[in-house]
Amino acid sequence: MKRDTICVQEGYSPKNGEPRVLPIYQSTTFKYDSSAEMGDLFDLKKDGFFYTRLANPTADAPEKKLAALEGGVGCMLTSSGQAASLISILNIASAGDHIISSSSIYGGTYNLFFKTLKEMGIETTFIPCTSKASEIEQYFRKNTKLVFGETLSNPSLDILDIEEFAKAAHSHNVPLIVDNTFPTPINCRPIEFGADIVVHSTSKYLDGHAVALGGAIIDSGNFDWTKGNYPMLTEPDESYHGVTYTETFGKAAFIVKARAHLMRDLGSAPAPMNAFLLNLGMETLALRMKRHCENAKKVADYLVTRMQGPDAKISWINYPDLPDNPNNALCKKYLPNGSSGVISFGIKGGREAATKFMDSVKLAAVVTHVADARTSLLHPASTTHRQLTDEQLKDCGVTPDLIRFSVGIEDPEDIIADIDQALANI
Ligand SMILES: *Cc1c(COP(=O)(O)O)cnc(C)c1O
Repeated sequence: MKRDTICVQEGYSPKNGEPRVLPIYQSTTFKYDSSAEMGDLFDLKKDGFFYTRLANPTADAPEKKLAALEGGVGCMLTSSGQAASLISILNIASAGDHIISSSSIYGGTYNLFFKTLKEMGIETTFIPCTSKASEIEQYFRKNTKLVFGETLSNPSLDILDIEEFAKAAHSHNVPLIVDNTFPTPINCRPIEFGADIVVHSTSKYLDGHAVALGGAIIDSGNFDWTKGNYPMLTEPDESYHGVTYTETFGKAAFIVKARAHLMRDLGSAPAPMNAFLLNLGMETLALRMKRHCENAKKVADYLVTRMQGPDAKISWINYPDLPDNPNNALCKKYLPNGSSGVISFGIKGGREAATKFMDSVKLAAVVTHVADARTSLLHPASTTHRQLTDEQLKDCGVTPDLIRFSVGIEDPEDIIADIDQALANI
Protein backbone atom coordinates (compact mmCIF):
# COMPACT_ATOMS: atom_id res chain seq x y z
CA MET A 1 0.00 0.00 0.00
CA LYS A 2 1.07 3.58 -0.68
CA ARG A 3 1.42 6.01 2.20
CA ASP A 4 -1.97 7.71 1.64
CA THR A 5 -3.69 4.30 1.78
CA ILE A 6 -1.72 3.15 4.83
CA CYS A 7 -2.92 6.27 6.69
CA VAL A 8 -6.54 5.24 6.16
CA GLN A 9 -6.43 1.43 6.11
CA GLU A 10 -3.52 0.00 8.09
CA GLY A 11 -3.70 -1.29 11.66
CA TYR A 12 -7.32 -2.33 12.10
CA SER A 13 -9.33 -4.79 9.99
CA PRO A 14 -12.64 -5.78 11.58
CA LYS A 15 -13.85 -9.35 11.25
CA ASN A 16 -17.41 -10.29 10.31
CA GLY A 17 -19.90 -8.28 12.39
CA GLU A 18 -17.28 -6.26 14.30
CA PRO A 19 -17.32 -2.44 14.53
CA ARG A 20 -16.13 -0.78 11.30
CA VAL A 21 -14.24 1.89 13.27
CA LEU A 22 -11.47 1.08 15.75
CA PRO A 23 -13.13 0.71 19.19
CA ILE A 24 -11.81 2.44 22.30
CA TYR A 25 -10.83 -0.45 24.59
CA GLN A 26 -11.28 1.53 27.78
CA SER A 27 -10.09 -1.30 29.99
CA THR A 28 -6.98 -1.64 32.11
CA THR A 29 -7.00 -5.41 31.84
CA PHE A 30 -8.05 -8.43 29.74
CA LYS A 31 -9.70 -11.69 30.79
CA TYR A 32 -8.36 -15.23 30.22
CA ASP A 33 -9.86 -18.63 30.88
CA SER A 34 -6.82 -20.07 32.63
CA SER A 35 -3.80 -18.79 34.50
CA ALA A 36 -1.60 -20.93 32.23
CA GLU A 37 -2.68 -18.85 29.22
CA MET A 38 -1.96 -15.63 31.07
CA GLY A 39 1.38 -17.04 32.22
CA ASP A 40 2.44 -17.52 28.60
CA LEU A 41 1.74 -13.85 27.92
CA PHE A 42 3.83 -12.82 30.93
CA ASP A 43 6.69 -15.01 29.72
CA LEU A 44 6.49 -13.37 26.26
CA LYS A 45 5.77 -16.82 24.80
CA LYS A 46 2.50 -15.61 23.25
CA ASP A 47 1.29 -12.34 21.78
CA GLY A 48 -1.73 -10.82 23.45
CA PHE A 49 -3.11 -8.21 25.82
CA PHE A 50 -3.18 -8.50 29.57
CA TYR A 51 -2.54 -5.07 31.05
CA THR A 52 -2.86 -1.68 29.33
CA ARG A 53 0.47 -0.41 30.66
CA LEU A 54 2.12 -2.94 28.32
CA ALA A 55 -0.31 -3.08 25.40
CA ASN A 56 -3.89 -2.25 24.47
CA PRO A 57 -5.77 -3.04 21.23
CA THR A 58 -6.64 0.64 20.65
CA ALA A 59 -2.93 1.53 20.79
CA ASP A 60 -2.01 -1.51 18.73
CA ALA A 61 -3.77 -0.15 15.62
CA PRO A 62 -1.92 3.21 15.33
CA GLU A 63 1.30 1.36 16.28
CA LYS A 64 0.90 -0.89 13.23
CA LYS A 65 -0.01 2.13 11.09
CA LEU A 66 3.06 4.10 12.14
CA ALA A 67 5.39 1.12 11.72
CA ALA A 68 4.08 0.69 8.17
CA LEU A 69 4.32 4.42 7.38
CA GLU A 70 7.95 4.65 8.56
CA GLY A 71 8.91 1.27 7.09
CA GLY A 72 9.80 -0.36 10.42
CA VAL A 73 9.31 -3.80 12.00
CA GLY A 74 7.52 -2.50 15.08
CA CYS A 75 6.30 0.55 16.96
CA MET A 76 5.47 1.41 20.55
CA LEU A 77 3.32 4.38 21.54
CA THR A 78 4.14 6.37 24.66
CA SER A 79 2.25 8.95 26.71
CA SER A 80 4.24 11.87 25.22
CA GLY A 81 7.04 12.67 22.81
CA GLN A 82 9.37 13.27 25.73
CA ALA A 83 8.76 9.71 26.97
CA ALA A 84 9.50 8.33 23.48
CA SER A 85 12.88 10.12 23.30
CA LEU A 86 13.81 9.05 26.84
CA ILE A 87 12.87 5.38 26.38
CA SER A 88 14.62 5.16 22.99
CA ILE A 89 17.84 6.16 24.73
CA LEU A 90 17.51 4.30 28.04
CA ASN A 91 16.79 1.13 26.05
CA ILE A 92 20.47 0.97 25.03
CA ALA A 93 22.39 3.45 27.25
CA SER A 94 22.85 3.68 31.00
CA ALA A 95 25.03 5.38 33.63
CA GLY A 96 28.62 5.64 32.41
CA ASP A 97 27.66 5.79 28.72
CA HIS A 98 28.00 8.60 26.19
CA ILE A 99 25.81 9.77 23.32
CA ILE A 100 26.33 12.16 20.40
CA SER A 101 23.48 14.49 19.45
CA SER A 102 22.84 17.13 16.84
CA SER A 103 22.51 20.48 18.62
CA SER A 104 19.55 21.44 16.39
CA ILE A 105 16.91 19.65 18.43
CA TYR A 106 13.69 20.50 20.27
CA GLY A 107 14.31 22.48 23.49
CA GLY A 108 12.67 19.80 25.63
CA THR A 109 14.98 17.15 24.18
CA TYR A 110 17.99 19.41 24.72
CA ASN A 111 17.08 19.82 28.41
CA LEU A 112 16.50 16.05 28.72
CA PHE A 113 20.02 15.38 27.40
CA PHE A 114 21.82 18.34 28.94
CA LYS A 115 20.33 18.06 32.43
CA THR A 116 18.39 14.90 33.20
CA LEU A 117 20.49 12.35 31.29
CA LYS A 118 23.62 13.98 32.69
CA GLU A 119 22.23 13.57 36.21
CA MET A 120 21.53 9.93 35.35
CA GLY A 121 25.17 9.47 34.32
CA ILE A 122 24.79 9.63 30.53
CA GLU A 123 26.91 12.33 28.91
CA THR A 124 25.99 14.08 25.64
CA THR A 125 28.25 15.75 23.06
CA PHE A 126 26.31 18.25 20.92
CA ILE A 127 27.45 18.76 17.33
CA PRO A 128 26.15 20.72 14.28
CA CYS A 129 23.36 18.98 12.31
CA THR A 130 25.21 19.52 9.02
CA SER A 131 28.41 17.74 10.19
CA LYS A 132 29.97 15.33 7.70
CA ALA A 133 30.77 11.75 8.73
CA SER A 134 34.49 12.57 8.72
CA GLU A 135 33.87 15.45 11.17
CA ILE A 136 31.60 13.40 13.47
CA GLU A 137 34.37 10.79 13.76
CA GLN A 138 36.33 12.73 16.41
CA TYR A 139 33.42 12.76 18.91
CA PHE A 140 33.14 8.99 19.32
CA ARG A 141 34.36 7.42 22.55
CA LYS A 142 34.66 3.81 23.67
CA ASN A 143 31.38 4.19 25.60
CA THR A 144 29.38 5.97 22.85
CA LYS A 145 26.09 4.09 22.53
CA LEU A 146 24.10 6.05 19.95
CA VAL A 147 23.83 9.12 17.72
CA PHE A 148 20.70 11.31 17.84
CA GLY A 149 19.26 14.00 15.57
CA GLU A 150 16.04 15.69 14.45
CA THR A 151 15.04 15.58 10.74
CA LEU A 152 13.64 19.14 10.75
CA SER A 153 14.32 20.89 14.03
CA ASN A 154 11.73 22.64 16.17
CA PRO A 155 11.87 25.67 16.14
CA SER A 156 15.09 26.46 14.22
CA LEU A 157 14.03 24.50 11.07
CA ASP A 158 17.53 23.14 10.50
CA ILE A 159 17.77 19.91 8.50
CA LEU A 160 19.77 16.90 9.67
CA ASP A 161 22.15 15.37 7.16
CA ILE A 162 20.77 11.91 7.95
CA GLU A 163 23.05 9.96 5.58
CA GLU A 164 26.22 11.51 7.03
CA PHE A 165 25.08 10.89 10.62
CA ALA A 166 24.10 7.30 9.78
CA LYS A 167 27.43 6.66 8.07
CA ALA A 168 29.38 7.91 11.10
CA ALA A 169 27.22 5.93 13.55
CA HIS A 170 27.40 2.69 11.59
CA SER A 171 31.17 2.88 11.17
CA HIS A 172 31.32 2.66 14.99
CA ASN A 173 28.59 -0.01 15.22
CA VAL A 174 26.15 2.30 16.99
CA PRO A 175 22.60 3.16 15.82
CA LEU A 176 21.21 6.49 14.64
CA ILE A 177 17.99 7.64 16.34
CA VAL A 178 16.03 10.33 14.47
CA ASP A 179 13.17 12.49 15.77
CA ASN A 180 10.90 12.80 12.71
CA THR A 181 8.11 14.85 14.34
CA PHE A 182 7.93 17.85 11.99
CA PRO A 183 8.16 16.20 8.54
CA THR A 184 6.12 13.09 9.54
CA PRO A 185 6.60 9.92 7.43
CA ILE A 186 4.59 11.65 4.68
CA ASN A 187 7.43 14.09 3.95
CA CYS A 188 10.44 12.00 5.02
CA ARG A 189 11.15 8.40 5.96
CA PRO A 190 14.49 8.58 7.81
CA ILE A 191 14.91 4.77 7.72
CA GLU A 192 15.35 5.01 3.93
CA PHE A 193 18.39 7.23 4.56
CA GLY A 194 19.96 4.97 7.19
CA ALA A 195 18.24 5.85 10.49
CA ASP A 196 17.82 2.79 12.74
CA ILE A 197 15.24 4.06 15.21
CA VAL A 198 12.65 6.80 14.60
CA VAL A 199 10.88 8.71 17.39
CA HIS A 200 7.91 11.07 17.25
CA SER A 201 5.94 13.50 19.31
CA THR A 202 2.55 12.42 17.98
CA SER A 203 1.13 15.53 19.71
CA LYS A 204 1.95 17.53 16.56
CA TYR A 205 0.98 16.69 12.93
CA LEU A 206 0.31 12.96 13.51
CA ASP A 207 -2.61 13.76 15.81
CA GLY A 208 -3.04 16.99 13.86
CA HIS A 209 -5.82 18.56 15.90
CA ALA A 210 -4.05 19.38 19.18
CA VAL A 211 -6.27 17.03 21.17
CA ALA A 212 -3.93 14.36 22.60
CA LEU A 213 -0.35 14.26 23.85
CA GLY A 214 1.58 11.23 22.67
CA GLY A 215 4.85 9.80 21.43
CA ALA A 216 6.05 6.86 19.37
CA ILE A 217 9.20 4.78 18.83
CA ILE A 218 9.63 2.88 15.55
CA ASP A 219 12.30 0.21 15.11
CA SER A 220 13.65 -0.26 11.56
CA GLY A 221 14.85 -3.75 12.45
CA ASN A 222 18.00 -3.00 10.42
CA PHE A 223 20.59 -2.55 13.16
CA ASP A 224 22.67 -5.61 14.10
CA TRP A 225 22.99 -5.34 17.89
CA THR A 226 25.27 -8.37 18.07
CA LYS A 227 27.99 -6.41 16.21
CA GLY A 228 28.00 -3.60 18.80
CA ASN A 229 28.34 -3.44 22.57
CA TYR A 230 24.73 -4.00 23.71
CA PRO A 231 24.67 -6.69 26.40
CA MET A 232 21.18 -5.53 27.44
CA LEU A 233 19.95 -6.91 24.11
CA THR A 234 22.39 -9.73 23.40
CA GLU A 235 22.69 -11.29 26.88
CA PRO A 236 19.97 -12.87 29.05
CA ASP A 237 17.58 -10.50 30.87
CA GLU A 238 17.16 -12.00 34.34
CA SER A 239 13.97 -9.95 34.90
CA TYR A 240 12.43 -11.96 32.01
CA HIS A 241 13.48 -15.51 32.91
CA GLY A 242 16.73 -15.12 31.05
CA VAL A 243 15.29 -14.18 27.64
CA THR A 244 17.91 -12.87 25.19
CA TYR A 245 16.09 -10.30 23.05
CA THR A 246 18.23 -10.63 19.92
CA GLU A 247 17.92 -14.44 19.96
CA THR A 248 14.20 -14.65 20.69
CA PHE A 249 12.91 -11.61 18.81
CA GLY A 250 15.48 -11.16 16.03
CA LYS A 251 14.94 -7.94 14.10
CA ALA A 252 12.35 -6.73 16.64
CA ALA A 253 14.74 -7.05 19.64
CA PHE A 254 14.93 -3.30 20.35
CA ILE A 255 11.21 -2.57 20.23
CA VAL A 256 10.24 -5.71 22.21
CA LYS A 257 12.72 -4.77 24.93
CA ALA A 258 11.44 -1.16 24.99
CA ARG A 259 7.99 -2.51 25.86
CA ALA A 260 8.80 -5.59 27.95
CA HIS A 261 11.49 -3.89 30.01
CA LEU A 262 11.10 -0.09 29.99
CA MET A 263 7.35 0.34 29.55
CA ARG A 264 6.93 -2.28 32.27
CA ASP A 265 9.26 -0.38 34.61
CA LEU A 266 8.66 3.27 33.70
CA GLY A 267 4.96 3.09 32.80
CA SER A 268 4.58 6.03 30.41
CA ALA A 269 1.81 4.28 28.46
CA PRO A 270 -0.71 6.05 26.21
CA ALA A 271 -4.35 6.24 27.30
CA PRO A 272 -6.68 4.22 25.00
CA MET A 273 -8.66 7.39 24.28
CA ASN A 274 -5.51 9.20 23.14
CA ALA A 275 -4.51 6.26 20.95
CA PHE A 276 -7.98 6.37 19.37
CA LEU A 277 -7.67 10.10 18.67
CA LEU A 278 -4.20 9.59 17.20
CA ASN A 279 -5.48 6.86 14.92
CA LEU A 280 -8.37 9.04 13.77
CA GLY A 281 -6.04 11.98 13.17
CA MET A 282 -3.61 9.89 11.15
CA GLU A 283 -6.37 8.88 8.71
CA THR A 284 -6.09 12.36 7.17
CA LEU A 285 -2.32 12.81 7.72
CA ALA A 286 -1.33 12.57 4.05
CA LEU A 287 -4.04 15.02 2.99
CA ARG A 288 -3.18 17.47 5.74
CA MET A 289 0.58 17.45 5.20
CA LYS A 290 0.12 18.24 1.52
CA ARG A 291 -2.13 21.18 2.38
CA HIS A 292 0.11 22.42 5.23
CA CYS A 293 3.07 22.52 2.82
CA GLU A 294 1.15 24.20 -0.02
CA ASN A 295 -0.21 26.83 2.35
CA ALA A 296 3.14 27.45 4.04
CA LYS A 297 4.80 27.96 0.64
CA LYS A 298 2.16 30.59 -0.25
CA VAL A 299 2.58 32.33 3.10
CA ALA A 300 6.40 32.27 2.72
CA ASP A 301 6.12 33.74 -0.80
CA TYR A 302 3.88 36.49 0.56
CA LEU A 303 6.32 37.22 3.41
CA VAL A 304 9.14 37.54 0.86
CA THR A 305 7.18 40.35 -0.84
CA ARG A 306 6.92 42.10 2.55
CA MET A 307 10.71 42.26 2.87
CA GLN A 308 10.89 44.67 -0.05
CA GLY A 309 9.88 48.25 -0.78
CA PRO A 310 9.42 51.35 1.42
CA ASP A 311 6.69 49.62 3.49
CA ALA A 312 8.84 46.53 4.26
CA LYS A 313 7.75 44.93 7.55
CA ILE A 314 9.67 41.63 7.53
CA SER A 315 13.43 41.55 8.12
CA TRP A 316 14.15 37.85 7.46
CA ILE A 317 12.38 34.54 6.74
CA ASN A 318 13.43 30.97 7.52
CA TYR A 319 11.53 28.42 5.43
CA PRO A 320 13.76 25.61 4.10
CA ASP A 321 11.73 25.30 0.88
CA LEU A 322 12.70 28.83 -0.26
CA PRO A 323 15.50 28.61 -2.89
CA ASP A 324 17.84 31.04 -1.10
CA ASN A 325 17.46 29.32 2.31
CA PRO A 326 20.82 27.94 3.56
CA ASN A 327 19.10 24.57 4.16
CA ASN A 328 17.51 24.39 0.70
CA ALA A 329 19.90 21.78 -0.71
CA LEU A 330 19.28 19.46 2.27
CA CYS A 331 15.55 20.21 1.99
CA LYS A 332 15.51 19.12 -1.67
CA LYS A 333 17.31 15.91 -0.76
CA TYR A 334 15.42 14.83 2.36
CA LEU A 335 12.12 16.73 2.08
CA PRO A 336 11.39 16.96 -1.67
CA ASN A 337 7.60 17.20 -1.15
CA GLY A 338 7.92 20.11 1.29
CA SER A 339 9.36 20.50 4.79
CA SER A 340 6.28 21.20 6.95
CA GLY A 341 3.84 24.02 7.69
CA VAL A 342 6.17 25.80 10.09
CA ILE A 343 7.89 29.06 9.12
CA SER A 344 9.89 31.43 11.28
CA PHE A 345 10.44 35.08 10.48
CA GLY A 346 11.56 38.36 11.98
CA ILE A 347 9.48 41.53 12.25
CA LYS A 348 11.24 44.84 11.56
CA GLY A 349 11.38 46.76 14.84
CA GLY A 350 12.49 43.90 17.11
CA ARG A 351 10.77 42.71 20.28
CA GLU A 352 8.29 45.60 20.48
CA ALA A 353 7.08 45.28 16.87
CA ALA A 354 6.87 41.50 17.22
CA THR A 355 4.68 41.84 20.31
CA LYS A 356 2.43 44.31 18.45
CA PHE A 357 2.13 41.81 15.59
CA MET A 358 1.18 39.03 18.02
CA ASP A 359 -1.52 41.23 19.54
CA SER A 360 -2.92 42.12 16.11
CA VAL A 361 -3.52 38.72 14.49
CA LYS A 362 -7.14 37.58 14.54
CA LEU A 363 -7.40 34.23 12.76
CA ALA A 364 -4.01 32.90 13.87
CA ALA A 365 -4.06 31.88 17.54
CA VAL A 366 -1.32 32.65 20.04
CA VAL A 367 -0.63 29.23 21.59
CA THR A 368 2.29 27.16 22.96
CA HIS A 369 1.62 24.57 20.31
CA VAL A 370 2.69 24.01 16.75
CA ALA A 371 1.86 21.74 13.84
CA ASP A 372 -1.90 21.30 13.95
CA ALA A 373 -4.82 22.09 11.64
CA ARG A 374 -5.37 25.62 12.96
CA THR A 375 -2.93 28.40 12.13
CA SER A 376 -1.05 29.38 15.27
CA LEU A 377 1.97 31.41 16.27
CA LEU A 378 4.36 31.96 19.13
CA HIS A 379 6.77 34.74 20.08
CA PRO A 380 9.48 32.95 22.08
CA ALA A 381 11.07 36.19 23.35
CA SER A 382 7.92 37.17 25.24
CA THR A 383 6.75 33.67 26.22
CA THR A 384 8.83 30.47 26.32
CA HIS A 385 12.14 32.40 26.49
CA ARG A 386 10.92 35.54 28.31
CA GLN A 387 13.37 35.18 31.20
CA LEU A 388 16.30 35.67 28.80
CA THR A 389 17.96 38.96 27.82
CA ASP A 390 18.37 39.88 24.13
CA GLU A 391 22.02 38.74 24.38
CA GLN A 392 21.10 35.33 25.85
CA LEU A 393 18.38 34.89 23.24
CA LYS A 394 20.93 35.33 20.46
CA ASP A 395 23.12 32.63 22.03
CA CYS A 396 20.35 30.04 21.75
CA GLY A 397 19.41 31.01 18.19
CA VAL A 398 16.21 32.84 19.13
CA THR A 399 16.26 36.50 18.15
CA PRO A 400 13.98 39.03 19.93
CA ASP A 401 12.04 39.58 16.70
CA LEU A 402 11.49 35.84 15.92
CA ILE A 403 7.93 34.66 15.30
CA ARG A 404 7.30 30.91 14.93
CA PHE A 405 4.36 30.65 12.57
CA SER A 406 2.54 27.33 12.14
CA VAL A 407 0.52 27.50 8.95
CA GLY A 408 -2.77 25.60 9.22
CA ILE A 409 -5.06 24.05 6.61
CA GLU A 410 -7.47 27.00 6.28
CA ASP A 411 -7.83 28.83 2.95
CA PRO A 412 -4.38 30.37 2.36
CA GLU A 413 -5.95 33.70 1.30
CA ASP A 414 -7.52 34.07 4.75
CA ILE A 415 -4.21 33.30 6.48
CA ILE A 416 -2.35 35.82 4.34
CA ALA A 417 -5.08 38.46 4.82
CA ASP A 418 -4.73 38.02 8.59
CA ILE A 419 -0.96 38.52 8.48
CA ASP A 420 -1.42 41.48 6.16
CA GLN A 421 -3.82 43.32 8.48
CA ALA A 422 -1.61 42.56 11.52
CA LEU A 423 1.48 43.96 9.72
CA ALA A 424 -0.51 47.10 8.84
CA ASN A 425 -0.95 47.67 12.59
CA ILE A 426 2.78 47.93 13.29
C1 LIG B 1 6.93 18.65 20.86
C2 LIG B 1 8.13 17.91 20.49
C3 LIG B 1 8.68 16.93 21.33
C4 LIG B 1 8.10 16.62 22.69
O1 LIG B 1 6.86 16.02 22.55
P1 LIG B 1 5.68 16.08 23.64
O2 LIG B 1 4.61 15.27 23.00
O3 LIG B 1 5.33 17.52 23.83
O4 LIG B 1 6.23 15.45 24.89
C5 LIG B 1 9.80 16.25 20.90
N1 LIG B 1 10.36 16.51 19.71
C6 LIG B 1 9.86 17.46 18.88
C7 LIG B 1 10.53 17.72 17.58
C8 LIG B 1 8.74 18.19 19.24
O5 LIG B 1 8.26 19.14 18.41
